[in-house]
Amino acid sequence: MSMCFSEGFYKAIFEGCSDAIYVIDPQNSRILDANTCAWQDLGMSREQLLEHSVISLQQGVENEEHWAQIVEIVFASHPNAFTFIGRHYHQRGTSFPVEVYTSVIEFEGQPLFLSVARNLDRTSSQREEFRTRDARLTYALNEAVDGLWDWEIGSNEVFFSPQLKQMLGYLPHEMTPNLDTWTQAVHESDRERVIAALNDHLEGRAGSYSAEYQIRKRDGSYIWVRDRGRICQQDDEGNPLRVVGMVHDITRSKDLEEQLREQASHDHLTGLLNRRAGYIHFSKQLSFALRYSQSLAVCLIDLDHFKNINDSFGHLVGDSVLKHFVELMSTTLRKSDSLMRWGGEEFLLLLPNTEICSAQQLIEQLKEKLGDNPVVLELEGREINYTFSAGLASFPVHSQSLDSLIKCADDALYEAKAEGRNRIYISREGDGV
Ligand code: GH3
Ligand code: MG
Ligand code: MG
Repeated sequence: MSMCFSEGFYKAIFEGCSDAIYVIDPQNSRILDANTCAWQDLGMSREQLLEHSVISLQQGVENEEHWAQIVEIVFASHPNAFTFIGRHYHQRGTSFPVEVYTSVIEFEGQPLFLSVARNLDRTSSQREEFRTRDARLTYALNEAVDGLWDWEIGSNEVFFSPQLKQMLGYLPHEMTPNLDTWTQAVHESDRERVIAALNDHLEGRAGSYSAEYQIRKRDGSYIWVRDRGRICQQDDEGNPLRVVGMVHDITRSKDLEEQLREQASHDHLTGLLNRRAGYIHFSKQLSFALRYSQSLAVCLIDLDHFKNINDSFGHLVGDSVLKHFVELMSTTLRKSDSLMRWGGEEFLLLLPNTEICSAQQLIEQLKEKLGDNPVVLELEGREINYTFSAGLASFPVHSQSLDSLIKCADDALYEAKAEGRNRIYISREGDGV
């Protein structure tokens, strides 16, 4: 028996379908038509919905360029439907998870996309889609973190969640589902450590797997992630069969951490090592000199009458004088030399493998250079001439310990100041003894 159904019959099927149906123009992602379930799911009227496009409805589709990529894939998948797991925006501004199957249809010579979107919020509450507790849990976790992976050791297959792919800038069908895909994307300098951490857990040395590392995105840039996983299935002998993990994008907190570390060890104004970090650096240099029987020259430098500069020109000009001094020094010093900000207008200079007379010569040169390059005030075009005094001590001549080397240099500096400033004095420790 054959039946000839009317247009109204097909319309009734379209509107009565319990999944949302969209007809989309592949050119611009606009919604050409949609059924009742579609606009009800989105909390809109039918008219409102027809104002939208996939880009404005689907959270996972970022822009026109991204849409163009998806269009290509949908055409390439034809006649199979292309699956996209993402989120649709509700009129309220919230979003809900959807699984969208898109196929290509032809109407009056034009290719159109037919998308069937299943609202996963609805299906999961009805327990249709997620029958097993495991799958529901996986689904819930997926919502809570940036991404999930699920590794079946035997087949070496890895399921990468859509969120995970999105975090790395991949499209849903991309990323070959095996472990290699992941390990190859881990930054070279982290890879060995990450694999070791995973093996520690697999071989029972660690209760779980946890690692922080950099991973490459599709565009070649790297982000920092925190990755945690645990064996969730074992065979009768206790061998791991399946491992599930969660990945968090921690790039922002890593950047912050780096910034804080930098702030803790460096002086904000000049960028030099501060006294605390400088002290640690100094002790390393000293043990190096000791081990390789090299000399180490230590020089304390203090700007002369700096208070006058502040008083005459203001604190801001004082700051730029400090920066001027550091820049001038930095262009003269060798790579192995280090200048640190020891106090307000006081600097500690370390010259490794340098005898005391060469150190003295170098600092004399710095003094001359400073004389030739005064600070020029930008607005007034005026020059500020300033000088410094320095006290020198050397390992192993004057002392062998860090604190007393500093003391020797400080005493010499004090004498240089007392004798009228703008001069370099060498420690007299050990003289006449
Ligand atoms: P002397 O030749 O004896 O060293 O005289 P001085 O004026 O340089 O020495 P004093 O220790 O009396 O004054 C140092 C001044 O340096 C006082 C302080 O306000 C100023 N100073 C310290 N740190 C900074 C800074 O970061 N910026 C500016 N603008 N001034 C600073
Ligand atoms: Mg001073
Ligand atoms: Mg001072």
